[in-house]
Amino acid sequence: MSSLAPLRIPRCLLDPLARLPPADAEGLVRVELEHRGGRITALRSAPDRGATPLALTPPVDPHVHLDKAFTASAYPNPSGTMAGALAANLRELEQRQPSQVLARAELALDRAWRHGLRGLRSHVDSLGPPVGWDGLQDLRRRWAGRLDLQLVALAPLPHWGTAAGEALARQVAADGGLLGSVVGPPYAATGADAARLEGLLALAERVGCGIDLHIDESDGPPAPGLAALVALVERRGCAVPITCSHASSLALLPPRRLARLAERLAAASINVVALPLTNLWLLGKRPGQTPLIRPQAPVQQLQAAGVRVALGSDNVQDPWYPGGDFDPVELLRQAPLLSHQLPWRRQGLAPFTCEAARLLGLPWDGVLREGSPADLVVLGATGWGELLARPPRRRVLRCGQWLPPPPQEEPSPLLMALEQQQLAPG
Ligand SMILES: [Zn+2]
Repeated sequence: MSSLAPLRIPRCLLDPLARLPPADAEGLVRVELEHRGGRITALRSAPDRGATPLALTPPVDPHVHLDKAFTASAYPNPSGTMAGALAANLRELEQRQPSQVLARAELALDRAWRHGLRGLRSHVDSLGPPVGWDGLQDLRRRWAGRLDLQLVALAPLPHWGTAAGEALARQVAADGGLLGSVVGPPYAATGADAARLEGLLALAERVGCGIDLHIDESDGPPAPGLAALVALVERRGCAVPITCSHASSLALLPPRRLARLAERLAAASINVVALPLTNLWLLGKRPGQTPLIRPQAPVQQLQAAGVRVALGSDNVQDPWYPGGDFDPVELLRQAPLLSHQLPWRRQGLAPFTCEAARLLGLPWDGVLREGSPADLVVLGATGWGELLARPPRRRVLRCGQWLPPPPQEEPSPLLMALEQQQLAPG
């Protein structure tokens, strides 16, 4: 049996039935944990003996793109526009090889794991047969136990209506994946999109796998895709889980219409993944104009209506967003600024942890209790203020074992070379 030094942990990540003192003003409780065989064996209140590190359970990222990660330098998008991103993405796709996809994904998973993530859902470009799909399946199996990886085949809506689309859907379902697509402007005026969307729902039901859509990722008309989808589900039902990623233009609805649509999404059990980083980077970008309206999924209004909402990083160092590093702590640090997601509130933290785990259907909700995994992200910060002040060092505990530190905590070869030059004589 091993004991950990006292930690300050958000009350919402601790067993609600545990006999603990009330959370402090930061929503934190000082606790001592014991573990054995990779599982928590005891959880109790710890006395206040000065500075105590802040700790979380490992977060889950519900939306990334492993296949195109780290392609920004080879396929740059200097305008930072959506059109520029799509053009660069298509150029990269023309020459994409399975070995490149595998190498990017392997690097991404290593970063994600060392940064403390325990689950990831990744979309994979599938304009035809998805390049590298089999390699990613192999990767998924090799990483099981370290990272739960879910893969979504991201194909154009019309593709799912073809024989090739049907065959791909059967393969995806057999591999435990999901069907993905893009529902966004320009919307077909003829209602063709709604018919294709209904075809996708029926296909997903036939093959038995979930759906995850890039929907209403725009600063244009407010949420026509979501409105069409919810109407479809109200009319015919849907036997498989549906996730709506982005839902950005939903924020442009007047408040009462937004509240009504959010209630209908909740009633239809449609989940939402908010992706504020890529939205704030791409949407509303026009030459010579600083954008005043910043569309992104209205997380708090959706939560108030009872919609399950998770928050993800989306693009990492690719033409759609040149930043990011599969680092959930960085996303947590940025979210108060991006989306007013305050981590000291239960609903502020849930989209990164418990709600993201539930949305992915993971076996553990991320709440520490006796018998739960001995998994923690321990931060070199004593509270939220210090976390927001500067990127903290961290140590990640998985199954009771400390992982190697994340890459940014290793010595920088660039700076070491500089220092050696300065030390050299002459
Ligand atoms: Zn995406």
